[in-house]
Amino acid sequence: MNVAPKTLRQLSDLDAAGLTDNEQRTALEQVAAQYAIAITPAMESLIDRTDPNDPIARQFVPSAAELTTTPQERADPIGDDAHSPLPGIVHRYPDRVLLKLTHVCAVYCRFCFRREMVGPGAEPLTAEQLDAAIEYIASHPEIWEVILTGGDPLVLSPRRIKDVMARLAAIDHVKVVRVHTRVPVAEPSRTVPALVKALKIKRKATYVVLHVNHARELTDAAREACDRFIDAGIPMLSQSVLLKGVNDDPQTLGALMRALVECRIKPYYLHHGDLAPGTSHLRTSIEHGQALMRALRGRFSGLCQPEYVLDIPGGHGKSPIGPNYLSKNDSEGWRVEDFNGASHCYPPKT
Ligand code: SF4
Repeated sequence: MNVAPKTLRQLSDLDAAGLTDNEQRTALEQVAAQYAIAITPAMESLIDRTDPNDPIARQFVPSAAELTTTPQERADPIGDDAHSPLPGIVHRYPDRVLLKLTHVCAVYCRFCFRREMVGPGAEPLTAEQLDAAIEYIASHPEIWEVILTGGDPLVLSPRRIKDVMARLAAIDHVKVVRVHTRVPVAEPSRTVPALVKALKIKRKATYVVLHVNHARELTDAAREACDRFIDAGIPMLSQSVLLKGVNDDPQTLGALMRALVECRIKPYYLHHGDLAPGTSHLRTSIEHGQALMRALRGRFSGLCQPEYVLDIPGGHGKSPIGPNYLSKNDSEGWRVEDFNGASHCYPPKT
């Protein structure tokens, strides 16, 4: 009898799957006691066990390096708490809020910026807390967009998603609902027609933003899952995290962006790695990120250009940190650099 593959959640599951190193055993036990583990069959099947630097394994298989925390790293790296007026809501920018429905995810990423909060034991929003969060949104007419995040909202049942979407649909000033998810790549079988239908609400725009970091994650099943959203009229964008040893060279990053565009998903954000505890082995320097963005600009279609952003530690929001191509020279006006690095002048306005 065939046994359906299951999500790996314990070190013993990883042992059985040949994904642990015995020499790191004690350290891995400490990591597992601190941070959640989940590797879905879809992601596990992509891991090349003959490659010690496999980019999929680096994202999901725990490592002893996670026990090294630098002085700059912090439990709440993007400062959600400072902007959370009540459980489940983060109101950092005037016209939009995060609505965090759950702290559970299909997979647990080793670089997660909310790794101190997410995990299978984390409490979901209670019915009363959800009522209060919806009431908060309804009573703030400046909120134009609601971003469903977590955790991963698409681990919830279509029935629960439908209920939340219906309640948002009833709020006149909310015009856009954005859903941040890794489910279409991590567990594509969850994107059933009932889920897609639940996300569509009359007279509001729903966007699905896919978290994906390597072109290999866009398997046939993942592409079909994305097709279900897009064919139903739900546009898709992407967000990727710049990760050392995963996507931090121009070919790999460019291949990811091309694969996304081929799937009709517009690359939106490339995040610089946040200062989450125990993640320095996966972060690059900002200089390296800028050099990668220059390389993308020179070699890949304009459709393949995400915005390189940094969430400023302490809760000050996102800022674009990509390379600058324009400078001012008082005698000549502007100087602008082309994609080959040559500089040209552009006259001041007369
Ligand atoms: S899916 Fe998102 S929230 Fe969940 S572990 Fe990965 S980065 Fe964190």
